[in-house]
Amino acid sequence: MSREVRTKVLVVGAGVAGLGAALELERGGTDVLVVDEGDAPGGVMRTDSVRGFRIERGPNTIRIDAGLQQLLVDQDLVTLPLRATAENKSRWLFAGGKLVRVPTSLVSMFRSKLLGPAAKRRALREPLIQRGDASRESVAAFVTRRLGSEVAENLVAPFLTGVYAGDPERLGAEAVLPSLVDAERRRGSILLGSLTAAIRNRLGNVPRGRPGIWSCVSGLSDLAASLSAGLALRPRLATRVEAIARDREGWRTEVRGPEGETVVRSRGLLLAMPADAAARLTGAVDAELAARLASIEYAPIVTLALGVEPGGVQRSIEGFGFLVPAAARMDLLGCLFMSRLFPDRAPPGAELLHCILGGVRAPDVVTLPEDLLRKRCLGELDRVLGLRAEPTSLKLTRWPKAVAQPGVRHRELDAAIDRRLTDLPGLGLAGAYRSGVSVTAALASGVAQARIISARLSTQ
Ligand SMILES: Cc1cc2nc3c(=O)[nH]c(=O)nc-3n(C[C@H](O)[C@H](O)[C@H](O)COP(=O)(O)OP(=O)(O)OC[C@H]3O[C@@H](n4cnc5c(N)ncnc54)[C@H](O)[C@@H]3O)c2cc1C
Repeated sequence: MSREVRTKVLVVGAGVAGLGAALELERGGTDVLVVDEGDAPGGVMRTDSVRGFRIERGPNTIRIDAGLQQLLVDQDLVTLPLRATAENKSRWLFAGGKLVRVPTSLVSMFRSKLLGPAAKRRALREPLIQRGDASRESVAAFVTRRLGSEVAENLVAPFLTGVYAGDPERLGAEAVLPSLVDAERRRGSILLGSLTAAIRNRLGNVPRGRPGIWSCVSGLSDLAASLSAGLALRPRLATRVEAIARDREGWRTEVRGPEGETVVRSRGLLLAMPADAAARLTGAVDAELAARLASIEYAPIVTLALGVEPGGVQRSIEGFGFLVPAAARMDLLGCLFMSRLFPDRAPPGAELLHCILGGVRAPDVVTLPEDLLRKRCLGELDRVLGLRAEPTSLKLTRWPKAVAQPGVRHRELDAAIDRRLTDLPGLGLAGAYRSGVSVTAALASGVAQARIISARLSTQ
């Protein structure tokens, strides 16, 4: 017979979304139990040590927005994050057979070699372009309409490769570039709107995060472990949720873990897991909700961590890393110069390169045998950096469903998910597929869902 456990809210998933939600629920005085089928907290945030290199298998860097900063303050963790070295801001694009610096601000965009004079003149005319309708518009269509096709193809598409491993023709502008769409709606221009927002942020009393990009001294597993340690009750690991059902008191969840089968009874239930996993569990309680969750697409990627000896490459390894545009027709999407961002990631004198392959551009890469994958990766890296000696392969990780791909109807889809949730009291859904794919956005979705669940439970 199954054991029975009671808690006010059960959180399924100890990724950053689930941990953020659980901490927020506890902060409001709610008892919470977190379960996860993995063997460590953090979900896709996983750091390994291999031959003196510290390797991230999932996310490599994070941004600290106002929400994460507040959480770090609340948890007494303000000294935990480690900022990437400031001189490594340069980002590169492999264009025309060489690495060209990517502009990182509006001003540098107009100086960039990635745009010709006509494209710069077209982009400067943006404030004069009539307001359009960005709802149901792809990122490619939106940026082309506002700033011209060269900006869309040479600047925005590579940026989307870096963040989403996605296709700009299919990613939705409203979901992926919300502040630019908002600027067009409010000001009629994304250039003027962005300028006004920047001035308002600088002068106004807007809650701030910390500038720059960050990790932790021992990698992002440190962040996960520290957030997990802040919980009154540590997450139960190696514990998989098999089924959920509604009952008179709220929710009845069947879990299987090291202690065998357990039934968890709770008033609130937060599923903080990828959309396909949430679809499988919600099928039994709401078929329409499950179908909507199942419709969310993910891009597959493979990451390969490589150690490079001094003098092992011809071009200098300097800056953040490089991206490869679709026009180059490579499986390699980009490469992060991890030991340039965080010098102690590699043993003295060596460099750590983090290669990313696949995405929606080359989805089959994720199923290739390891030898072939490594060969392709090294061949393409040679084209970009010029290899003098074969790098050491340190760790290859396959992510068949790495990054959610918010499409042109994502806002409608997310609103429909929220509507279904109003009929399922106490149930919440959080994760990177809801309102942004970054670690910070996933955390924010967990916190937001925790607040909604708390508010609903307090009125029942
Ligand atoms: C390879 C890769 C690189 C990335 N790079 C970056 C980056 O550099 N910067 C950045 O900001 N973001 C990056 N991201 C995105 C970001 O890391 C994720 O969006 C975010 O961490 C997701 O957090 P989450 O809590 O929503 O989900 P997850 O981390 O996926 O956690 C979900 C948890 O649910 C658990 N679970 C699932 N099903 C069950 C079940 N039935 N029972 C029990 N537990 C279950 C899983 O074990 C998992 O621990 C990257 C993502 C990947 C995959």
